[in-house]
Amino acid sequence: MKRASSSPSTDPSLADLSPGSEVLVLRRDDLEAIIAQARAEYPNEACGLLGGRGGRVERVYPTRNALNSPVRYRVAEEDLLAALLDMEARGWGPDPLGIYHSHPHGPETPSATDVAESFYPDSIYLIVSHVARERPVIRAFRIVEGQVREIMVQIVPV
Ligand SMILES: [Zn+2]
Repeated sequence: MKRASSSPSTDPSLADLSPGSEVLVLRRDDLEAIIAQARAEYPNEACGLLGGRGGRVERVYPTRNALNSPVRYRVAEEDLLAALLDMEARGWGPDPLGIYHSHPHGPETPSATDVAESFYPDSIYLIVSHVARERPVIRAFRIVEGQVREIMVQIVPV
């Protein structure tokens, strides 16, 4: 990959990232599955849960968006319960490692609604945006009491 000749990004949302910051590890096949789901449900938002431990995603749980909306999502209740039960059976949890949804056209960051409706401070919120692009944008956040902090996503081979 060519290195940009301009100065490094000064995106303020990345300002608090530093060595030792939290990292979410996601396998490439799981990432591709999430992107495929987001494209299949386009133009509506897609959503699902991430199971695993230690910041490493071990299983992706696609769920239905109960709102069938291009601007909102709510994980369908029965899908949520089924995923949480499976995670519990695997010794993960009690909260999901992550919750993902798509922003079909962006933004890449949590919306005001996402922040207001983030009920899992122990979960990482993964957002897949610009899903129609060749390479959608994947960013992850922790949302605690209205405060949003970005988390690095490390994509690893299968
Ligand atoms: Zn959102």
